[in-house]
Amino acid sequence: MLIPDNSLTPTKISTFGGGALDLVVGYDEPGCPLAYHLRYEERRPRLESEPLLRGRAIHGAIELIEQEAVSLDEALSRSWPAQLGPTGYDEALKHLLEFLSRPDDGTHTIASEIELKVPLFEHDGQTVYAGGIVDRVALDLSLPNLLYVDDYKTSARPLPRSVMETWFQGRHYAFLVRENADLFLPDHGRIPQIEARIVLTKHGYSLPKRFTDYQLDVYREWLISLATQILGCDDPTPVLNPGCSYCDFQMECPAWLSLPGSGKALYERVANANTEELIPLRVEAQKVESACKKIKEQIDVMARDRLEVDKVDELSVDNVTVGIDEAWRDEVVDLRAAHDLMGDEFYDLASLTKGAVEKWAKEHTSESSLASTLLVPQYQGRRLKWTTG
Ligand code: SF4
Repeated sequence: MLIPDNSLTPTKISTFGGGALDLVVGYDEPGCPLAYHLRYEERRPRLESEPLLRGRAIHGAIELIEQEAVSLDEALSRSWPAQLGPTGYDEALKHLLEFLSRPDDGTHTIASEIELKVPLFEHDGQTVYAGGIVDRVALDLSLPNLLYVDDYKTSARPLPRSVMETWFQGRHYAFLVRENADLFLPDHGRIPQIEARIVLTKHGYSLPKRFTDYQLDVYREWLISLATQILGCDDPTPVLNPGCSYCDFQMECPAWLSLPGSGKALYERVANANTEELIPLRVEAQKVESACKKIKEQIDVMARDRLEVDKVDELSVDNVTVGIDEAWRDEVVDLRAAHDLMGDEFYDLASLTKGAVEKWAKEHTSESSLASTLLVPQYQGRRLKWTTG
């Protein structure tokens, strides 16, 4: 697939997703190659919702105030899109006023709404870049080697601190600013420290995250791997993800259209929920999951009956085919021969299941504790434990 303008931006990354390349261990950035293909290769227009337009207008007004020192009302009226009419204008003005009257955090703006690029690698004779527009770069004069990179979020929902762990956009902006540090701190001597912050304009607080050089170097590698994956991807498969309920392409997406109604409703509720609302939704997700599992089992039974009654090898409906597959396992290890060959190293490879040990203990001794003396507890780390009352 293409990377338009040869520039990999946060929006393109979140549309395609992390492609199963973990940037944070155990977390795959959600996204969907089909949505990416439709948006960036087929160039389908974005359907702009009112909240999106209002958010953009507030961003634009902040930029005008920072760059041209115009009044708040003038800034908002210049950035306000005609299609919104007066709807929500007063609320946006109040939102801006609250944002601009927040306590001074001691930082000074060096640049706002600045477009930055960093070359990543050559592909087909062209340079592929990391790119993006950074909302604000700032400096605290008492900490001259630290650059702040602010990303304004105008959404009504407050964000928990936990989002910072997987916030790749912050890493992206920090990377762009580090690689262009000469623009902001000429003669800085060494690579400055970067602190990226989500600035929640409606809620008057910021969520900060500092990135080390090592993390930003790893980010570069991740970007290169992801860009290579996008360029090499010729199968735009749909991947259901929390962004589906906002997706403009639902009506032409086979994955979305084949979701049962309860699954769609759940996706929609998940997209708009905060942490407190999400926790009980897991129980519903589990119910939908087990209901779907039962449906699959029932269909399997019915299909097997039908194949046997009709005495046919396969049944095909639309583009789905079901048949009976004869399964053989032909690679069972001869343990005695393996032991003879490997000697004591055999014990490093061999493993017994807990169930097998318990069965053996039950059959060979009346001492019920024998199995527990053979079973050694193994620490598995901190795991979530879900209970329903
Ligand atoms: S609705 Fe379909 S196309 Fe849209 S993001 Fe979800 S899976 Fe992808």
